[in-house]
Amino acid sequence: MTPKTIGSLQVFACVDSTGPTRVPAEMLKDVPANATALDWLAPYLAADGRMIMAYQSFVLKLDGRVILVDCAIGEDGNFPARPDWHEKKSNWLAHLGQAGVTPDQVDTVFLTHLHMDHTGWLTRKDVGEWVPTFPNARHLVSQTEFDFWTTRHTEFPYMSTSIPDSVAPVADAGLIDIVAPGAAIAEGLKVVDLAGHSPGMIGLEYTEQGSVLAAFNADLMHHPVQMAHPQCATMFCSDPEAAIATRKAKLAQYAEARTVMFNNHFPGECAGHAVPSGDGFEFVPLT
Ligand SMILES: [Zn+2]
Repeated sequence: MTPKTIGSLQVFACVDSTGPTRVPAEMLKDVPANATALDWLAPYLAADGRMIMAYQSFVLKLDGRVILVDCAIGEDGNFPARPDWHEKKSNWLAHLGQAGVTPDQVDTVFLTHLHMDHTGWLTRKDVGEWVPTFPNARHLVSQTEFDFWTTRHTEFPYMSTSIPDSVAPVADAGLIDIVAPGAAIAEGLKVVDLAGHSPGMIGLEYTEQGSVLAAFNADLMHHPVQMAHPQCATMFCSDPEAAIATRKAKLAQYAEARTVMFNNHFPGECAGHAVPSGDGFEFVPLT
Protein backbone atom coordinates (compact mmCIF):
# COMPACT_ATOMS: atom_id res chain seq x y z
CA MET A 1 0.00 0.00 0.00
CA THR A 2 1.24 3.46 -0.78
CA PRO A 3 1.27 5.76 2.29
CA LYS A 4 -2.08 7.37 3.06
CA THR A 5 -3.04 10.65 4.73
CA ILE A 6 -6.49 10.70 6.32
CA GLY A 7 -7.11 14.09 7.95
CA SER A 8 -4.25 14.49 10.44
CA LEU A 9 -3.42 10.79 10.39
CA GLN A 10 -0.61 9.31 8.30
CA VAL A 11 -0.66 5.56 7.64
CA PHE A 12 2.10 3.35 6.27
CA ALA A 13 1.98 -0.38 5.59
CA CYS A 14 4.80 -2.72 6.64
CA VAL A 15 4.36 -5.88 4.61
CA ASP A 16 5.76 -9.14 5.96
CA SER A 17 4.62 -11.38 3.12
CA THR A 18 2.03 -11.53 0.33
CA GLY A 19 0.94 -14.42 -1.88
CA PRO A 20 -1.61 -17.10 -2.75
CA THR A 21 -2.90 -19.01 0.29
CA ARG A 22 -5.93 -21.33 -0.07
CA VAL A 23 -8.98 -21.60 -2.29
CA PRO A 24 -12.06 -20.04 -0.59
CA ALA A 25 -13.69 -23.39 0.26
CA GLU A 26 -10.62 -24.42 2.28
CA MET A 27 -10.85 -21.40 4.57
CA LEU A 28 -14.43 -20.09 4.49
CA LYS A 29 -17.50 -21.90 5.78
CA ASP A 30 -20.64 -22.02 3.60
CA VAL A 31 -18.93 -20.18 0.74
CA PRO A 32 -20.97 -20.35 -2.50
CA ALA A 33 -19.28 -22.27 -5.35
CA ASN A 34 -19.38 -19.16 -7.57
CA ALA A 35 -18.33 -16.77 -4.77
CA THR A 36 -15.37 -15.37 -6.67
CA ALA A 37 -17.16 -14.92 -10.02
CA LEU A 38 -17.10 -11.13 -9.72
CA ASP A 39 -14.89 -8.98 -11.94
CA TRP A 40 -13.72 -6.74 -9.10
CA LEU A 41 -12.35 -9.77 -7.18
CA ALA A 42 -10.01 -10.83 -10.01
CA PRO A 43 -6.94 -8.90 -8.74
CA TYR A 44 -7.21 -10.73 -5.41
CA LEU A 45 -7.12 -14.26 -6.86
CA ALA A 46 -4.28 -16.37 -8.23
CA ALA A 47 -4.73 -18.14 -11.59
CA ASP A 48 -5.42 -21.41 -9.74
CA GLY A 49 -8.23 -19.81 -7.70
CA ARG A 50 -6.33 -19.42 -4.45
CA MET A 51 -6.94 -16.24 -2.47
CA ILE A 52 -4.02 -13.79 -2.45
CA MET A 53 -3.48 -12.52 1.08
CA ALA A 54 -1.06 -10.17 2.79
CA TYR A 55 0.43 -10.39 6.28
CA GLN A 56 1.35 -6.92 7.41
CA SER A 57 1.29 -4.15 10.02
CA PHE A 58 0.25 -0.51 9.86
CA VAL A 59 2.30 2.40 11.21
CA LEU A 60 0.18 5.35 12.32
CA LYS A 61 1.73 8.80 12.79
CA LEU A 62 -0.48 11.26 14.65
CA ASP A 63 0.51 14.36 16.66
CA GLY A 64 4.10 13.13 17.12
CA ARG A 65 2.95 9.68 18.19
CA VAL A 66 4.13 6.48 16.46
CA ILE A 67 1.61 3.68 16.81
CA LEU A 68 2.15 0.23 15.32
CA VAL A 69 -0.99 -1.80 14.63
CA ASP A 70 -0.21 -5.54 14.80
CA CYS A 71 3.07 -7.38 14.32
CA ALA A 72 2.57 -9.80 11.40
CA ILE A 73 4.39 -13.17 11.25
CA GLY A 74 7.88 -12.10 12.28
CA GLU A 75 11.23 -13.77 11.72
CA ASP A 76 12.68 -17.10 12.89
CA GLY A 77 9.30 -18.23 14.26
CA ASN A 78 8.61 -21.87 15.07
CA PHE A 79 5.71 -22.88 12.76
CA PRO A 80 6.38 -26.47 11.62
CA ALA A 81 2.77 -26.79 10.37
CA ARG A 82 3.32 -23.78 8.06
CA PRO A 83 6.52 -24.49 6.10
CA ASP A 84 6.24 -21.09 4.37
CA TRP A 85 6.39 -19.33 7.77
CA HIS A 86 8.70 -21.69 9.65
CA GLU A 87 11.94 -19.94 10.66
CA LYS A 88 11.45 -17.54 7.75
CA LYS A 89 13.20 -14.23 7.11
CA SER A 90 11.41 -11.04 6.13
CA ASN A 91 11.95 -7.46 4.94
CA TRP A 92 9.45 -6.15 7.49
CA LEU A 93 12.01 -4.13 9.49
CA ALA A 94 13.20 -2.51 6.26
CA HIS A 95 9.61 -1.55 5.50
CA LEU A 96 9.35 -0.02 8.99
CA GLY A 97 12.47 1.99 8.11
CA GLN A 98 10.87 3.12 4.84
CA ALA A 99 8.05 4.55 6.98
CA GLY A 100 10.76 6.64 8.68
CA VAL A 101 10.58 4.69 11.94
CA THR A 102 13.12 2.76 14.02
CA PRO A 103 11.91 0.17 16.55
CA ASP A 104 12.99 2.46 19.42
CA GLN A 105 10.67 5.22 18.14
CA VAL A 106 7.49 3.15 18.35
CA ASP A 107 5.63 4.43 21.44
CA THR A 108 2.57 2.16 21.17
CA VAL A 109 1.98 -1.33 19.79
CA PHE A 110 -1.74 -1.97 19.37
CA LEU A 111 -2.59 -5.66 19.14
CA THR A 112 -5.95 -6.36 17.56
CA HIS A 113 -5.73 -9.99 18.63
CA LEU A 114 -3.09 -12.56 19.51
CA HIS A 115 -3.16 -14.98 16.55
CA MET A 116 0.36 -15.88 15.48
CA ASP A 117 0.17 -13.88 12.24
CA HIS A 118 -0.33 -10.68 14.30
CA THR A 119 2.27 -11.16 17.05
CA GLY A 120 5.45 -12.22 15.22
CA TRP A 121 7.43 -8.99 15.40
CA LEU A 122 6.66 -8.42 19.08
CA THR A 123 9.98 -10.14 19.65
CA ARG A 124 13.12 -10.90 17.70
CA LYS A 125 15.77 -13.53 18.29
CA ASP A 126 18.90 -12.13 19.91
CA VAL A 127 21.68 -14.72 20.34
CA GLY A 128 19.08 -17.47 20.60
CA GLU A 129 16.81 -15.60 23.02
CA TRP A 130 13.49 -13.90 22.25
CA VAL A 131 13.62 -10.21 23.25
CA PRO A 132 11.03 -7.41 22.80
CA THR A 133 11.46 -5.60 19.47
CA PHE A 134 9.90 -2.37 20.77
CA PRO A 135 11.42 -1.77 24.23
CA ASN A 136 10.07 1.81 24.51
CA ALA A 137 6.48 0.96 23.57
CA ARG A 138 3.43 0.24 25.66
CA HIS A 139 1.77 -2.83 24.15
CA LEU A 140 -2.04 -2.71 24.19
CA VAL A 141 -4.30 -5.76 24.13
CA SER A 142 -7.82 -6.54 25.39
CA GLN A 143 -8.24 -8.39 28.68
CA THR A 144 -10.33 -11.15 27.08
CA GLU A 145 -7.75 -11.74 24.38
CA PHE A 146 -4.78 -11.73 26.75
CA ASP A 147 -6.44 -14.06 29.27
CA PHE A 148 -7.71 -16.51 26.64
CA TRP A 149 -4.50 -17.02 24.69
CA THR A 150 -2.02 -16.92 27.57
CA THR A 151 -3.94 -19.70 29.33
CA ARG A 152 -5.30 -21.80 26.44
CA HIS A 153 -2.83 -21.51 23.54
CA THR A 154 -1.70 -25.14 23.90
CA GLU A 155 -5.21 -26.25 22.81
CA PHE A 156 -4.58 -24.72 19.35
CA PRO A 157 -1.72 -26.47 17.52
CA TYR A 158 -1.69 -23.87 14.72
CA MET A 159 -0.47 -21.29 17.24
CA SER A 160 2.66 -23.42 17.76
CA THR A 161 4.97 -21.58 20.21
CA SER A 162 3.87 -18.05 19.31
CA ILE A 163 2.55 -17.16 22.79
CA PRO A 164 5.71 -18.26 24.68
CA ASP A 165 8.04 -16.88 21.96
CA SER A 166 6.31 -13.61 21.01
CA VAL A 167 3.89 -12.56 23.77
CA ALA A 168 5.40 -13.87 27.02
CA PRO A 169 8.75 -12.00 26.74
CA VAL A 170 6.85 -8.70 26.27
CA ALA A 171 4.58 -9.46 29.24
CA ASP A 172 7.56 -10.51 31.37
CA ALA A 173 9.26 -7.18 30.56
CA GLY A 174 6.18 -5.34 31.94
CA LEU A 175 5.39 -3.75 28.60
CA ILE A 176 1.72 -4.84 28.26
CA ASP A 177 -1.28 -2.66 29.17
CA ILE A 178 -4.89 -3.80 28.97
CA VAL A 179 -7.29 -1.64 26.91
CA ALA A 180 -11.05 -1.88 26.58
CA PRO A 181 -13.43 -0.83 23.79
CA GLY A 182 -14.34 2.83 24.15
CA ALA A 183 -10.86 3.90 25.30
CA ALA A 184 -9.01 6.57 23.29
CA ILE A 185 -5.35 5.64 22.72
CA ALA A 186 -4.57 8.99 21.03
CA GLU A 187 -6.53 12.11 20.05
CA GLY A 188 -9.46 10.86 17.94
CA LEU A 189 -8.28 7.24 17.93
CA LYS A 190 -10.70 4.97 19.76
CA VAL A 191 -10.74 1.25 20.53
CA VAL A 192 -13.72 -0.70 19.14
CA ASP A 193 -14.98 -4.20 19.92
CA LEU A 194 -14.60 -6.68 17.01
CA ALA A 195 -15.02 -9.92 18.99
CA GLY A 196 -15.92 -13.05 17.04
CA HIS A 197 -12.96 -14.08 14.91
CA SER A 198 -10.93 -14.17 18.12
CA PRO A 199 -12.50 -14.00 21.61
CA GLY A 200 -11.35 -10.45 22.42
CA MET A 201 -10.48 -8.97 19.02
CA ILE A 202 -10.46 -5.17 18.94
CA GLY A 203 -9.90 -2.53 16.27
CA LEU A 204 -9.39 1.23 16.02
CA GLU A 205 -11.57 4.00 14.61
CA TYR A 206 -10.16 7.45 13.82
CA THR A 207 -12.60 10.33 14.16
CA GLU A 208 -12.27 13.99 13.20
CA GLN A 209 -15.10 16.48 13.70
CA GLY A 210 -17.62 13.76 14.43
CA SER A 211 -16.87 11.65 11.35
CA VAL A 212 -15.21 8.24 11.50
CA LEU A 213 -12.62 8.79 8.76
CA ALA A 214 -10.60 5.59 9.12
CA ALA A 215 -10.95 2.12 10.62
CA PHE A 216 -8.28 -0.43 11.41
CA ASN A 217 -10.29 -3.57 10.97
CA ALA A 218 -8.06 -6.35 12.24
CA ASP A 219 -9.45 -9.60 10.79
CA LEU A 220 -12.99 -8.35 10.20
CA MET A 221 -12.31 -9.73 6.70
CA HIS A 222 -9.43 -11.96 5.59
CA HIS A 223 -9.99 -11.48 1.89
CA PRO A 224 -12.25 -9.22 -0.23
CA VAL A 225 -14.49 -12.24 -0.99
CA GLN A 226 -15.80 -11.86 2.59
CA MET A 227 -17.09 -8.40 1.64
CA ALA A 228 -19.10 -9.88 -1.22
CA HIS A 229 -20.19 -12.69 1.13
CA PRO A 230 -20.18 -11.32 4.71
CA GLN A 231 -22.02 -14.48 5.89
CA CYS A 232 -18.86 -16.59 5.44
CA ALA A 233 -16.83 -17.13 8.62
CA THR A 234 -13.39 -18.69 8.54
CA MET A 235 -12.47 -22.04 10.04
CA PHE A 236 -10.28 -20.08 12.49
CA CYS A 237 -13.15 -18.04 13.98
CA SER A 238 -13.68 -18.74 17.69
CA ASP A 239 -17.34 -17.64 17.51
CA PRO A 240 -18.47 -17.76 13.85
CA GLU A 241 -21.94 -16.30 14.56
CA ALA A 242 -20.46 -13.32 16.38
CA ALA A 243 -17.81 -12.89 13.66
CA ILE A 244 -20.53 -12.70 11.00
CA ALA A 245 -22.69 -10.27 13.01
CA THR A 246 -19.69 -8.02 13.71
CA ARG A 247 -18.65 -8.05 10.04
CA LYS A 248 -22.14 -7.21 8.76
CA ALA A 249 -22.63 -4.40 11.31
CA LYS A 250 -19.24 -2.80 10.73
CA LEU A 251 -19.43 -3.05 6.92
CA ALA A 252 -22.84 -1.34 6.99
CA GLN A 253 -21.52 1.38 9.31
CA TYR A 254 -18.37 2.02 7.26
CA ALA A 255 -20.23 1.99 3.94
CA GLU A 256 -22.75 4.53 5.28
CA ALA A 257 -20.06 6.83 6.72
CA ARG A 258 -17.64 6.41 3.76
CA THR A 259 -14.99 5.35 6.28
CA VAL A 260 -11.63 4.27 4.84
CA MET A 261 -11.04 0.71 6.03
CA PHE A 262 -7.47 -0.55 6.45
CA ASN A 263 -7.65 -4.30 5.86
CA ASN A 264 -4.76 -6.24 7.33
CA HIS A 265 -4.93 -9.26 5.01
CA PHE A 266 -5.84 -7.58 1.71
CA PRO A 267 -2.89 -7.50 -0.71
CA GLY A 268 -1.60 -4.33 -2.36
CA GLU A 269 -3.82 -1.27 -1.95
CA CYS A 270 -5.60 -2.60 1.13
CA ALA A 271 -7.23 0.68 2.21
CA GLY A 272 -10.58 1.53 0.73
CA HIS A 273 -14.33 1.83 0.96
CA ALA A 274 -17.19 -0.64 1.26
CA VAL A 275 -19.86 0.00 -1.36
CA PRO A 276 -23.15 -1.93 -1.06
CA SER A 277 -23.52 -4.48 -3.87
CA GLY A 278 -25.92 -7.43 -4.10
CA ASP A 279 -26.25 -9.13 -0.70
CA GLY A 280 -22.88 -7.77 0.37
CA PHE A 281 -20.36 -5.11 -0.54
CA GLU A 282 -17.75 -4.32 -3.13
CA PHE A 283 -14.29 -3.23 -2.02
CA VAL A 284 -13.16 -0.02 -3.73
CA PRO A 285 -9.50 0.68 -2.94
CA LEU A 286 -8.10 4.16 -2.46
CA THR A 287 -5.45 4.79 -5.10
ZN1 LIG B 1 -4.90 -12.65 10.79
